[in-house]
Amino acid sequence: MKGFFVKSMEKVDVKDFCLEELESFLGGMGKEKYRARQIFKWLYQKGAVSFDEMTNLSKEFRAELATRARISSLAPERTEVSADGTKKYLFMLENGLSVESVLIPDEERATLCVSTQVGCAMGCRFCLTGTFRLQRNLRCSEIVNQVCSVVKTERVTNIVLMGMGEPLANLDNVVRALKIMVSPDGFQISNRRVTVSTSGLVPEIARLGQAVTVNLAVSLNATTDEQRDVLMPVNRKYPLAELIEACRNFPLPNRRMITVEYVMIRGINDTLEDARRLVKLLKGIPSKINLIPFNEYEGSEYGTPEQASIDAFHRYLLDRNLTVITRASRGRDISAACGQLRAKLEKNN
Ligand code: SAH
Ligand code: SF4
Repeated sequence: MKGFFVKSMEKVDVKDFCLEELESFLGGMGKEKYRARQIFKWLYQKGAVSFDEMTNLSKEFRAELATRARISSLAPERTEVSADGTKKYLFMLENGLSVESVLIPDEERATLCVSTQVGCAMGCRFCLTGTFRLQRNLRCSEIVNQVCSVVKTERVTNIVLMGMGEPLANLDNVVRALKIMVSPDGFQISNRRVTVSTSGLVPEIARLGQAVTVNLAVSLNATTDEQRDVLMPVNRKYPLAELIEACRNFPLPNRRMITVEYVMIRGINDTLEDARRLVKLLKGIPSKINLIPFNEYEGSEYGTPEQASIDAFHRYLLDRNLTVITRASRGRDISAACGQLRAKLEKNN
């Protein structure tokens, strides 16, 4: 009984709601729908941290809100700046857990790489995050607060969900956060500038496409089921043919292409034979290929390919009229490479 009482008194975090959910929460308080848009603008455009700041709401309404709800925020515990301008932010959550975000400035763009889970359950063999197993999903508020915190001091033009975790394994919270990012009342980022990266959870790719319009990046990393089964255990459940079909059916924003990420690993998937199979696999899929030379880390069993193999692979794809970029590893000196953020986790908790 006591437990129930305490729980029922817990305040909801307004940053855990997408706009529709906030509308219905306010509806329960007898308030008009447009109030949700006003509150959203305060939270995501003006960076409000208390209801008191929301001066276009009556004093009574603000007071009532404060009794039922709260506004969470995250402040970086530590910020590291790489020689190439990449910035890494470490955010502490409760229970000693932490997540990282990385800001990658690049001429006219500034891309924020956001985390969606603490650790990751997918167990990809080449990935540092994978070795930490899954600690827990991030709440919607914890995903958007990474953005809230960075935009306070920096310009952010693009967002990629490519930090720690598998976004589609935390689909409901990720969809809420994506809606806030692209909402005209939220962060107002064009859906052409927001990308979700997945290791290939096929049913969730379809669900994501139904829920929100954003770009999709797929971590392919291999061109046969035999190879991919070893590198990415998710392939045993959703093999290549199913993944490619899911890409084919994904409703992208206008005139956009699927991003195909291909981590090149020495002696594993870096030959021209691999490149040939990749071309065949992607036939008919509007795609651009991101070649990512494997980033070595302490204890990694794999290595970065020879530069000559990377160049030859790149050229093979170009010569077949594919869009391809070889991604320079940014922020290496502060281990901020996107997709291999290191959580400062207790190994055995
Ligand atoms: N879980 C999602 C998003 C985070 S990983 C996914 O897998 O897509 C982001 C990217 O980093 C993925 O494309 C992944 O293949 C890549 N990556 C992981 N470890 C890497 C490493 N050691 N070197 C280079 N890229 C790596
Ligand atoms: Fe998880 Fe992505 Fe790393 Fe695989 S590559 S373990 S899905 S974070």
